[in-house]
Amino acid sequence: MLALSGLAAALLAALPAPAAAGTETIGRSVEGTPIRAVVRGPQDAGRTVLVVGTVHGDEQGGLAVIRELRRRPLPEGLRLVILGQANPDGARRGTRLNARGVDLNRDFGRFRAPESRALAALIRRERPDVAIHFHQALDLVYRPRGATRTVVRAYARRVGMRVVASPPYRGTASSYVHRFVPRSTSFVVELPGGRPPPRVATRHARSVLAARGP
Ligand SMILES: [Zn+2]
Repeated sequence: MLALSGLAAALLAALPAPAAAGTETIGRSVEGTPIRAVVRGPQDAGRTVLVVGTVHGDEQGGLAVIRELRRRPLPEGLRLVILGQANPDGARRGTRLNARGVDLNRDFGRFRAPESRALAALIRRERPDVAIHFHQALDLVYRPRGATRTVVRAYARRVGMRVVASPPYRGTASSYVHRFVPRSTSFVVELPGGRPPPRVATRHARSVLAARGP
C-alpha cells in the first residue's frame, strides 16, 4: 500500500500544475531572448483561455490585442493566459520563421525550435478550454480540424469576421492543443494586414474575454 500511494503521489507531482498569476519566462528563443507569458485570474477559475499574440515574426498585429488584454478587467470565472511574443527573433528580423529558419506553426510534433517547445509546455500545463492564435493577413477566422464550430463561430460573430475551414496543415499549435487537451477548442484569427486600429483591437480583446469552451 505504501508503495502504491507513493507511486500515486509521484504521478501527481509529475503533472504540471497551472501557474500562479503573474509574468514568467517560459523559455528562450534561439538567440536567447526570454519568451514571457502573463497569467491573469485565479488558478481555480471555471475556464481558461490561452491567447497567443504572434508566432510568425512578420505578423505583429495581434500584439495590439494583447496590450488590451493585459489591462482590461477580467470577467468572473476566467483565467487568461497570455503569450504575446512567441517568436522574438523572427519579430526582430521581420521574418515569418525563427532564427534557424523553422516555421513554429509547423513545428508541433517535431519540435526543432525552443520557441514551439516553450509554447507546448505552456499548453500542457495550463490545459486551456479555448486557445486563440493571432496571425495575419487573411481577414478571416480559421477553424482547424478538432475545433468546435459553435465556439469559433461565436468569436467570429463578435468581431464581424467570416469562418473558413482551415487547410489541413501539419504540426500547428492548434493541432497540439486538440491532441493534449480533451474537449478544448483552438483556432486561428487572421487579422487584416498592418496594425489594427484601436477599436478593432478592443473588439477582439472583448471577444477573447467572452470566449468559452463547448
Ligand atoms: Zn501566421
